[in-house]
Amino acid sequence: MQLLHKKSLQIISVKIILLVFLFLFQLSNGSVLAQDINAYTPPPDNSDYPIVHHRNVKNVILLIGDGMGFNQILSGRIKFVGAMNKLYMDKLPISGVQFTHADDQLITDSASSATAISSGYKTKNGLIAMTPDSMSLPTLLELSQEKNKAVGLITTVQSTHATMASFGAHIINRNMQAAIAEQYVESNIDIILGGGRSYYLPQNMRGSNRKDDRDILWEFADRGYTVASNYAELMAADNEKLIGIFSMDEMKSVRPEPSIEEMVRKAVEILSKDEDGFFLMVEGGQIDWGAHDNDFEYMLRELIAFDWAVKTAVEFAIQDNNTLVIVTADHETGGLILTGGGMWGEELEYNWATTGHTPTPVPVRAFGPGAEDFAGFYQNTEIGVKIANLMKFENFPRPKYKK
Ligand SMILES: [Zn+2]
Repeated sequence: MQLLHKKSLQIISVKIILLVFLFLFQLSNGSVLAQDINAYTPPPDNSDYPIVHHRNVKNVILLIGDGMGFNQILSGRIKFVGAMNKLYMDKLPISGVQFTHADDQLITDSASSATAISSGYKTKNGLIAMTPDSMSLPTLLELSQEKNKAVGLITTVQSTHATMASFGAHIINRNMQAAIAEQYVESNIDIILGGGRSYYLPQNMRGSNRKDDRDILWEFADRGYTVASNYAELMAADNEKLIGIFSMDEMKSVRPEPSIEEMVRKAVEILSKDEDGFFLMVEGGQIDWGAHDNDFEYMLRELIAFDWAVKTAVEFAIQDNNTLVIVTADHETGGLILTGGGMWGEELEYNWATTGHTPTPVPVRAFGPGAEDFAGFYQNTEIGVKIANLMKFENFPRPKYKK
């Protein structure tokens, strides 16, 4: 009896040791493969990127840090490069400030603010490129398609989430994410990269958030799209039509997923083959999520991964010389205040005022042809107007239409 007991104890302890090893292995795997922060190297100097002295905009890369206010950026700067140094996004030579208010409220959500940028119209919270009376608002992405430009959308959250959807879909409620996925199939968007596979899978598949049997990724494949589901498949893709959905819900930016920077690099590589130019929107979606959680480290991780993507976008634009790069936010999240840190090198002290959004104005940074138009203080709708003017879209904002 005693012997048997001893033996089973031994077996149990061996099992526990094995489990611990397995856990540690997975942990180390995760931390080795989480690329963004490990890959980050600060800018070599504090000089601004150069001014481009012409106004011929062929391509636009619009990078939106969701929830990324001045203090989110400042704390990223202090933490990663030092208070006296610049992040990559700080090196864009032209600066502006935008007010983010919604049509009916001081405090916007991501649907209303992204719609303001994409369509040039203020709308109510929750609406995706639509007016409250269900009229559709033509977006910068759609007008780019009219000009035969290639178009792409990238996010680190669900690809059906509000910011990205406000460029490629029209719907009265941002929560209708399954319907947003359906609209993407019809939208002829060249490149879609992000998370949210649950909204593409038929209802009988595990984790599906659909209430029907449509297999939306199969429908994309049927239309000639390459469908990628991990980093390796993304890197191997060279089709001009590409949908990469890398996670069931939001992305984790750990292998086998690509990082936001890797998504931008691949998208630019493919889109830039179009002789008519391209429009690309990139959302760092989880800066906002970290701020909603009042999780400083989470927010910073996402911010620095976003900054690395900004670097890649601007480096392409410098080579290309006809690409306008805009870096901004849709609103501030968390009411982040830095309250101290005292002497150099001391831990940063900070406070969050809320777990929601705030009406605090947010920065706009610009590089490339026409960048000087983005200097000043203005409403978020002006960003869409300025981009549309530089892309020579006739009358913007365009009239609403019934869909
Ligand atoms: Zn938010």
